[in-house]
Amino acid sequence: MVQSASFDLPASPIPDSGAVLDWYDRHARILPWRVPPQDRARGIKPNPYHVWLSEIMLQQTTIAAVGKYFAAFTRLWPTVADLAAAPLDDVLVQWAGLGYYARARNLHACANAVMENHGGNFPQTAARLRDLPGIGDYTSAAIAAICHDEQVAVLDGNVDRVMARFLALPVPVREEKALIRARVQEAVPERAGDFAQAMMDLGATICAPRRANCLVCPLERDCQGTRTGNPLTFPVPAPKAEKPHRFGHAFVIRHPDGSVFLRQRGPKGLLAKMTEVPGTEWVGEEKDANFPLKGQWKEAGLVTHTFTHFHLSLSVWSIQSDQALDEGWWACIDALDNEALPSVFRKVLKAAGLQ
Ligand code: SF4
Repeated sequence: MVQSASFDLPASPIPDSGAVLDWYDRHARILPWRVPPQDRARGIKPNPYHVWLSEIMLQQTTIAAVGKYFAAFTRLWPTVADLAAAPLDDVLVQWAGLGYYARARNLHACANAVMENHGGNFPQTAARLRDLPGIGDYTSAAIAAICHDEQVAVLDGNVDRVMARFLALPVPVREEKALIRARVQEAVPERAGDFAQAMMDLGATICAPRRANCLVCPLERDCQGTRTGNPLTFPVPAPKAEKPHRFGHAFVIRHPDGSVFLRQRGPKGLLAKMTEVPGTEWVGEEKDANFPLKGQWKEAGLVTHTFTHFHLSLSVWSIQSDQALDEGWWACIDALDNEALPSVFRKVLKAAGLQ
């Protein structure tokens, strides 16, 4: 166990931005939304629309998962004007699978705000970017630094981990976020965008969650974590709050012609306005199924899914019937990719043998 009493804040080191940039010039990851450092040095600027889109998609999602979504969005909507003009439902359909659907709604609202309030150009400073829907402290700093070299600290989960190790932070990151920010801020050089991306790359490739390759790390010289002999001890984990468990039933109604009955969720709350398989409310205790149609319902399995704030167990039932419910539509099972179906309902359809 790491002792917090020995932590000496004033003595904590500052990352060597020169070493970090040297490393980045040689090892920068190639990403579809990124301008490589050599091109950046020649004056080529990143496209703010691409940087913004990637940053929103990357919130709580990996680069590997985001690649195909980024490609699809930029193919369908090459500019922020195109995205703003697209119907929200089309955006939600393309977003399906990325999760956190409030982000997709904010994405669309933000594109419209850029068109209506900023003449189609993203603002250039973090302070002004922060006024846009769905853009918080991190995203505003990232866009301003990457696109315009604003000298602001950009702290994502990767950078937090690198800094927790670099400082041998004896407490969970959230308790010393201000210190991390201050140390990174002191280090930010003129090439602020490349530095921000370099720190993210370091966290993704060298100082990764389960491995720290200290021998090739540009921060090794001053790193306090590596000196402890066990840098993976950091970041000190925060105590985990127990996630509650909810239960519900999902009803898969299959028409004899092969289609399946779907409906739209309500306008507010979790997965608002997304497409769903009909079902019960999700509650804190297991209850008997209250079937929406009379007939021979068959048990099709149990689906489990974890949301940010709770675990869900859904009992899946299926029936063959040509009877529709009050609101909804029959969807062709060959075209389910065109429905804004969140992952949890794709799991439900899979359990019923439809995906
Ligand atoms: S020296 Fe090791 S622990 Fe320190 S930042 Fe680099 S990889 Fe992480």
